[in-house]
Amino acid sequence: MKCVICKVGDTRSGKTTITLERDNMTLVFKGVPAEICINCGEAYIDEKTTKTVLQKSEEAALSGVQVDVRHFAAA
Ligand SMILES: [Zn+2]
Repeated sequence: MKCVICKVGDTRSGKTTITLERDNMTLVFKGVPAEICINCGEAYIDEKTTKTVLQKSEEAALSGVQVDVRHFAAA
C-alpha cells in the first residue's frame, strides 16, 4: 500500500519495535510484524497485532513488570 505519511513510499512486510509506556512500566516489543514504508520508515501495525500487544502489556502490568524487553510472538 501507499504510505499515508510521506505519500511517496510503498510499504512492505517487515518487523518493527514498539515501545509502550504507562504509569511506571516501560515495555519494549521487538520483532512485531508490520507493514513498513520503504521511504520514511513509518510502520503500520494491523488491528489484531495491536490488540495482542495491548493484551501482553496488560498481563505485564498485572505481574508488576517495570521494564521489560520482549520478543513479540503472535498469539
Ligand atoms: Zn512513508
